[in-house]
Amino acid sequence: MARALDGSICRVKLTFGDLSAEQARQVAEAAKRFGNGVIEITNRANLQIRGVQPEAEASLIRALLDAGLGPLTDKGDDVRNVMISPVAGLDTNTVDIRPLALRLLQILQTNASYQTLSPKFSVLIDGGESVAMVDHPHDIWVSPINPAGTTPQFAFGVAGVPPTKHGDQTTLGSVGGEHVFDLITKILDLFIDWSRDHPAASRLRHMIAETGTACLAEKLESHPGFGLAKAMSDWYRAPPRPNAHLGVLPVRDGLTCLVGAIPPLGRLDPGLLWALADLAGKRGNGTLRMTPWQSVILAGVATSEAESVLADLESLGLRFDVRQPLATMISCSGSAGCGSALAATQADGLRLAALLGAGTAIPQIHMSGCRKSCASPSAQPVTLVATAPGHYDIFLRATNGPSRFGKLLAANVTIEEAADLIGENFGAI
Ligand code: SF4
Repeated sequence: MARALDGSICRVKLTFGDLSAEQARQVAEAAKRFGNGVIEITNRANLQIRGVQPEAEASLIRALLDAGLGPLTDKGDDVRNVMISPVAGLDTNTVDIRPLALRLLQILQTNASYQTLSPKFSVLIDGGESVAMVDHPHDIWVSPINPAGTTPQFAFGVAGVPPTKHGDQTTLGSVGGEHVFDLITKILDLFIDWSRDHPAASRLRHMIAETGTACLAEKLESHPGFGLAKAMSDWYRAPPRPNAHLGVLPVRDGLTCLVGAIPPLGRLDPGLLWALADLAGKRGNGTLRMTPWQSVILAGVATSEAESVLADLESLGLRFDVRQPLATMISCSGSAGCGSALAATQADGLRLAALLGAGTAIPQIHMSGCRKSCASPSAQPVTLVATAPGHYDIFLRATNGPSRFGKLLAANVTIEEAADLIGENFGAI
């Protein structure tokens, strides 16, 4: 539970974003009974129930545990941060990393030493999928060098992301697929050892800032079991397909597919979550998968029914056509739920989307209630940062700053002015 302006926020951590239709109904019911009815999909593919009053917290936790949505151990909840692609094991020419990810998730929750890691500590296990979020920094990442190969070798790095283009941070080294689990746990052990003398440090980037990557690489290279190869400056992960989490996603078997769409600003209410659960039961395989883009995927949909399932999702208010601003727009809670917010980002975001209308080149827009940027750890093509109620600075993403959001396009503008400026720059209106 975390405190917020509208009551406590209860984070419901999902294993790789999945929940059954029945679990989804139980979450919907719990949000209605014990929260204010707002359910958010997070950028780590979890759910959050908002507006929980103190007297309802214990009942809510009991309801979620009864739904089978608790951690493996009491102290294991915070460290359940292993990210994988929503199509892991289903995409063609990729490595099925799900067994590795499950094994890691299990040890993170059950090993007392790992339970001391920060709730923000995260590990990315990439299988080389075309639907993947590989631009959010993780404490540790691994990614196959040749995903279609028969004996995968994994590149790895810390405090960053897999390189996808020239100039990105390079790898720390590579190991055979059979050594990836031991490599990750070795890095965790080294970090935990180091952090005993640095109690304020919670992330691997803090260790790297003090010791450098060379020191970590040396310690790993001296480990006899890994057969670790040195850093490669010329390997790049194939960039994922943009917005591939939306629409129809083919899978290996060719008979079924995944169907993805996003609720406006990644928010659901109990009725909508219940309706999605019904749709997953009737037209899919009975599971819902949340994604780090704050969208939903229905799995196991017959390929012949994909278009009609998309129509059903659209009739429920979800978007999948990237020419609509709300198909990609993200927002923090803004003044509806956060005491630090300088504006009502969600209401302003909906208004901005309505003003922009459907265009042909609308970039992803991020609405942020202050400079902390909770909704997106990395810069988005367009970021509006609140300066006062109804007013924002607009930034366009740039590779070299000058700010974390990019280059300032205009300062302290209204939503109407923002819509005009975005239209002028991207031909959206
Ligand atoms: S970005 Fe700022 S306003 Fe938005 S949720 Fe985070 S702290 Fe609050």
